[in-house]
Order: sequence, then structure tokens, then C-alpha cells
Amino acid sequence: MRHYENDPRAFRTRFFSTCSKCSKKIPQDSMAYYFPATRKLLCQSCGGAVYNAFLSSATNEEYYSRQYNYR
Ligand SMILES: [Zn+2]
Repeated sequence: MRHYENDPRAFRTRFFSTCSKCSKKIPQDSMAYYFPATRKLLCQSCGGAVYNAFLSSATNEEYYSRQYNYR
């Protein structure tokens, strides 16, 4: 299976941060999303939708690569 080095990650913030999109403050120990491809840290409301979209596209990609990989 392909490894996604640029997988966005959902995690709990250890530090007080700021959302790269809406500039909202992200308090310490709250959910946030990190996107290595763009090096952006997004708050839950900005990152959640993007993260979920990524999850479904990753699943599709895995499905298709399985279809076309006959090994
Ligand atoms: Zn935000």
C-alpha cells in the first residue's frame, strides 16, 4: 500500500496556536489539523472539512490503485 507522506493529521495541540486560514486562536489541548503539504495548521472548523475530504479521496485512491495493481 502506498504511504502518504503528506497526509494531513488530526491531533491535539500542545501549544497555543493560530489557524492559518481564519486566524482564529486555537487553545492548547484542543483539536487541530496539520497539513504537511502546505505546512498549514488549521482549526477544527477550517480543517475538519478538508481533512474529511482528504480521507474520502485517500480511500478512493487506495481503491483504484488496488484495481489497477495486479500483483
Ligand atoms: Zn480556522
